[in-house]
Amino acid sequence: MNRYRSTASYTSQLPSDQVLVKLTKILGAANIQADPAKNEHYRMGWRSGGGSALAVLFPQTLLEIWQCLEVCVEGNCIIIMQAAKTGLTEGSTPSGDDYDRPVVVINTLAINKLYLINDNEQIISLPGTTLHQLQNELKAVNRAPHSVIGSSTLGASIVGGVSNNSGGALVKRGPAYTELSLFAQINEHGQLVLVNHLEG
Ligand SMILES: Cc1cc2nc3c(=O)[nH]c(=O)nc-3n(C[C@H](O)[C@H](O)[C@H](O)COP(=O)(O)OP(=O)(O)OC[C@H]3O[C@@H](n4cnc5c(N)ncnc54)[C@H](O)[C@@H]3O)c2cc1C
Repeated sequence: MNRYRSTASYTSQLPSDQVLVKLTKILGAANIQADPAKNEHYRMGWRSGGGSALAVLFPQTLLEIWQCLEVCVEGNCIIIMQAAKTGLTEGSTPSGDDYDRPVVVINTLAINKLYLINDNEQIISLPGTTLHQLQNELKAVNRAPHSVIGSSTLGASIVGGVSNNSGGALVKRGPAYTELSLFAQINEHGQLVLVNHLEG
C-alpha cells in the first residue's frame, strides 16, 4: 500500500470566492457550475433530499479530482462525491440547507474507463464507469457482473454500488464491495492523503 500526503489541509481557510476561482482554473468554466438555477439537477436526490451547494464540479480526469479535492480541503468545504445519483439514501446530493461549511458536489460520470485484468476475472473501474458498461464488456468475454440491480439500466455506477453496498437481483452473491482501491482520505490532522492499495 502506498500513501501520498498533500500539503492541503483543513487548517487553512481559503474564502469561497477564491475556492471558485481556483476550481475554475483547474476544470475550465465549462466543467464547473455554481449557478443554482443551472446545477439544480445535481443538487436534488432521485426520490428525496436536496440542498444548496457552492458549486457542482465535473472533473474529466482522476488528476483533476485530486486537484479539486486539494482546493476543497483548503476551503474547508464539505465534499459530496456523486456518480449517477440513483442512490436513495440522500447521500449523493446535499440534504438540507443548514450545513455549517460550503458544500461542493463532485460528479464523476465523465471519468468512465473500465479495464478488464487478470484474464477477465477482475476489473479496474474508474469512478464514473457504469454497471451497464460492465455488463456489456463482460458479455463479450462470456462472464457476468458481480451486481445487477434495479438501477443498472438507469446508469448506476460500479463505484456508487460499492459505496452503498448495493445488492439486487444477484444479492445472493452478497452486496457489492471491492478488494482494493485507490482513494483520497482526510486524516486525523485534517490533511488530504491519497491511499493506493493497487500498488505493491
Ligand atoms: C429505480 C431504482 C432501482 C434501484 N435498485 C436497486 C437495487 O436493486 N439494489 C440496490 O442495492 N440499490 C438499488 N437502487 C439504489 C441505487 O441505484 C444504488 O445504490 C446504486 O448503487 C447507486 O449508484 P450511483 O452510481 O447512482 O451512486 P450515487 O447515488 O451517485 O452515489 C451513491 C453513494 O456513493 C457515494 N459515491 C459515489 N461515487 C463515489 C466516489 N467516487 N467516492 C466516494 N463515494 C462515492 C455517494 O456520495 C453516495 O453516498 C435503485 C435505485 C433506483 C432509483
